[in-house]
Amino acid sequence: MSDKQTPHIIIVGAGPGGYAAAFHAARSGARVTLVERNQMGGTCLHAGCIPTKTILASARALETVSRLSEFGIAAETAPVFAVDMAAVMARKEKIRATLRVALEKTCAALKIRLARGQAELQAGLNVLVHTDGGTESLSGDAVILATGSKTLDLPALPVDHSRILNSDDILNLDHIPPRLLVVGGGVIGCELAFIFRAFGAEVTIVEALNRLLPLDPVDEEVSRLLLREAKKRGIAVLTAKTVRTAAIGENGVTCAVAPSPSAESAAGQSAEMETDIVLVAVGRAPDTEGLNPGAAGVAVDAKGWIVADATMRTSAEGVYAVGDALGPHRPMLAHTATAEGLCAVDNILGKKAVMNYGAIPSVIFTSPEIGVVGLSGAQAGGQGIRARSSLARYRELGKSHAAGELPGFFKLVCEEGSGRILGAHIIGAHAADIVAEAALAVRYGLTAADIAQTVHAHPTLAEGLREAALAWISGG
Ligand code: NAD
Repeated sequence: MSDKQTPHIIIVGAGPGGYAAAFHAARSGARVTLVERNQMGGTCLHAGCIPTKTILASARALETVSRLSEFGIAAETAPVFAVDMAAVMARKEKIRATLRVALEKTCAALKIRLARGQAELQAGLNVLVHTDGGTESLSGDAVILATGSKTLDLPALPVDHSRILNSDDILNLDHIPPRLLVVGGGVIGCELAFIFRAFGAEVTIVEALNRLLPLDPVDEEVSRLLLREAKKRGIAVLTAKTVRTAAIGENGVTCAVAPSPSAESAAGQSAEMETDIVLVAVGRAPDTEGLNPGAAGVAVDAKGWIVADATMRTSAEGVYAVGDALGPHRPMLAHTATAEGLCAVDNILGKKAVMNYGAIPSVIFTSPEIGVVGLSGAQAGGQGIRARSSLARYRELGKSHAAGELPGFFKLVCEEGSGRILGAHIIGAHAADIVAEAALAVRYGLTAADIAQTVHAHPTLAEGLREAALAWISGG
């Protein structure tokens, strides 16, 4: 056992959950060992948030240049812009490396020990770290598991990493496929569908349920607007459908697209569809291979996700777990993992921290963007809260016209009587940034009147939230 004045915390996994916990623990005076078998940064930095947003920036640049004449920009000879995928990928790699090095420097500055290897739990608070050079045995006063998630495979669609890809593969694609079929119209599927459509691919989304983004926090009206925008861009969307089989041939993949058994209104015939690439984006799976949670008495659920309470404690004394490793019962987002990492460290260091999952914003980088926080009207009703919603449209804002960003709306869900803001559902340009104000409002129980009485700079897109608050107050 280490000196109680400086507890030793072993953290397994150096993604946004693990490294945020490590930084917080080290800054709070703990001795920290961070175990990672790959590079620092986790899925977020290497195969998720950052690579997709980097590639998205290229897609958006292309969209902008295709609209130059709308903004009064003309060239003497009409330029032909083409995507240089090698350059797009090189930019992504450079950004990935810059951010990884920054994380490693922070570790070094905070005297966090980075143990590179595969962690295996043992009884008590002991962890083995396996490397090519041998096995090291660590003993801590607390352990935080931040092992993340990996792509979920479908038995019917075996990923061959060449024609049938998972979301890790597509972020390393060296060309733009003429035709791309995306299986799963969730967050990953929709983001990548819009990116590759902007790059010029012919894109089809096949979604098993009845709408795009059929996720609890996403309001149905948001899904409808996204569908409209997808169609406007030429993305074909097949809802209540699934891909039953995919046969790889010499020149592509032949998919059997069939009614989905999981949709309420599945109907119609199966049809064959030819494509160049299939992207499987149907969710995530636990990444606990080799970790052996059972050896430490850490309970997992039927699907293998680690079980933890809202203080991040697992079933094993002194072992905490955070982030994607806990599965889809909570928002599987980088910033959830970070908040949970801080919560775990605070509890290890004797504070009484409890996660508040009610005010975690979700951001989806489609075109237009989506930012959501708190409850939808239906969720509020389900919790027995009398709620009413109001709407303000992007086209009501001067800035939307000036910037040429007209599609979208701001929906506020507030409690009848008090006006307390329960949720905000924003779809439109920069929604992912704008939702931060709504997250503050939901977190601190602010009301529609609080937003309405706050001066918002003009002309900005943020004024939309105030317009929605004013609309709520006036009953609309
Ligand atoms: P998801 O749960 O968001 O979506 C999966 C979709 O696939 C669902 O809509 C589901 O109905 C559909 N589906 C499942 N099986 C199917 C089948 N056989 N045929 C057709 N459709 C099928 O999962 P994801 O998109 O893989 O994302 C994984 C996680 O990563 C999510 O929790 C997400 O929040 C997170 N993520 C977040 C961001 C962000 O914050 N911007 C970006 C990407 C991913």
